[in-house]
Parts: sequence; C-alpha cells; structure tokens
Amino acid sequence: MSQTVFDDPGEKVRLNDISADPPKGMTRDKAEKRFAALGKELFDLQDAMFGAKVHSVVVVLQGRDGAGKDGTIKHVVGCLNPRGVSVSSFGVPTAEERDHDFLWRVHRHAPRLGEFAIFNRSHYEDVLVVRVHKLAPKKLWQERIGHIADFEELLAEHGTIVLKYFLHITKDEQEQRLLEREVEPATAWKLNPNDWKERDYWDAYTAAYENAISRTAARHAPWTIVPANSKWYRNFVIAESIVDALRDHKRNWETTLKEMGKARRSELDAYRAQRASRKDATK
Ligand code: ATP
Repeated sequence: MSQTVFDDPGEKVRLNDISADPPKGMTRDKAEKRFAALGKELFDLQDAMFGAKVHSVVVVLQGRDGAGKDGTIKHVVGCLNPRGVSVSSFGVPTAEERDHDFLWRVHRHAPRLGEFAIFNRSHYEDVLVVRVHKLAPKKLWQERIGHIADFEELLAEHGTIVLKYFLHITKDEQEQRLLEREVEPATAWKLNPNDWKERDYWDAYTAAYENAISRTAARHAPWTIVPANSKWYRNFVIAESIVDALRDHKRNWETTLKEMGKARRSELDAYRAQRASRKDATK
C-alpha cells in the first residue's frame, strides 16, 4: 500500500495513488474487535494524560463532504471520557471571526493541558475552500500555510500532540453517501445542495489538499490519510493512530502521576502532623 502517514514537510502527496478502501485481508469483524480493544486503551491513556497535565491533544478532522467527520466523532471520540474533551466545528466564518486573523477562532479552542480538542474542519479550510473558490488572493492563502505550520509548532512546543486526519473517500462513495442522506430520516438535517455543487470542484480540492498536507506535514504534526470508504476501517485506523501517538507518553504520565502522588501525600502527612501537634498542645 502507498504511504499513508506524512510527517516530513515537502513530502509529495498523491491522493489518487492512495487507496480509499481497506487493505486486503482486513475484515469488518477483525477491525471492530481491534477497535473495541483500542477504545478501552484510549480511555485509560486519556485518564493518565488528564491527571498528569503535561500534554494535550488536538485531533484535526478534514475531508470532503460526506467523508465521515461526524461519524468519526461519534465512534472514536465516543471512546473518550467527555470530561476533558471539546468538539469544535468550523463553518463559514461569522462577521466577528472575519474581523480577526484566520487563526483567532481556532486558537481559542486549543486544548488546556490534560485535555482533548477535536476539530471538525479547522484552520485548514482557510487554505482549502478559500483557495478553491478564490475567496482570498493566492499570496494570502500561500502565506497562511506558513502560519499554520508555525501555529502547529507553537501548540506542539506547549505539549500539544497534534494529529491530523484526511478522511479519504472516492467520488463514487461520496455520491452514494449523499444519496443515502436523502432517504435516511436521521440525516435530514445534513441535506445541502452545496455538497453537490462542491463535487464539481473535486480535482481542485485534491490539489489544495495535496499542497496543504505536504507543506504542513511535520514530526510534531503528522497527517494520516485515512482510507475512509468503509466506516468500520476508518474508525479503526483513527483509533489506532491516536492510541499509538499517546502510548509513547504513557510512561512519562505514569511517572508524573507517581511523583505528584508522592508530593501530595507528603503534604497530607505534614498537615496531619501539624494537626496532631495542635491537638496535643490544647490537651
Ligand atoms: P458534512 O461534511 O457532513 O457535509 P460539513 O462539515 O460540510 O458537514 P457544514 O456546516 O454543512 O458542515 O459546512 C461547513 C461549511 O463551511 C463547509 O462548506 C466549509 O467549506 C465551510 N467553511 C469552513 N471554514 C471556512 C472558511 N474559513 N471560509 C469559507 N468557508 C468555510
């Protein structure tokens, strides 16, 4: 299979060379079983991170209409303890947002140490839809890519684990999903002619994504191209990727918690000793 993780700036990204389907040999049953185990591990890792408060996580979900951003939030984010998780969706900027620099609305949703922030669309829209529909001059969105790389570096310097996912679906799969929405009562709220209009810009979005992913790929802010034609495989890939990234820090969090426990216990001992000596003095 072609490379699916990009963590080196400038690496060439060719979405059409990456399969949107699960690899041969992977079955729904296998993926769902592994997903269930990963979900439990993720919950425990989140607990350790929440307590240690030396890192935080940003999960950026990008993809075309119908790629499964909402479904990912429901399933993968559903494995987390809601205490310590925020989900922010970035739509067309409001008048107030437009009066600020493009990162303003995003930066305010960056996570506190210990917490998870999930971005349903993100600062990348300002170099994707804005580029495709020429909502800003080329010079401006090109400069924005540099600002995004710097922004993510800043987050990482503060201990934020930045994980970015492009949910990769084919044009046929998108058509099928958009049509399914029309007959499914639960998704009536998603029906939007704009999704069909955007399909006409499929190739322009491909070019915009390839450029943005390539220029912002970094060790501290990797992009994963998630084969997302099958929802069960998509959920498994994202859960596995988040768990892998967090596992690297598990020992650090456990050590921090152990030291924290030692320091807090000695505070408690000191308090109890003081209280006992006060009691003795009043006897
Ligand atoms: P789904 O993918 O499930 O269809 P959605 O993410 O498209 O849902 P909507 O609220 O329908 O949810 O769409 C948000 C819209 O806002 C998208 O068309 C997106 O391109 C647009 N948008 C987001 N950020 C910007 C931006 N900075 N400038 C212009 N448009 C933006």
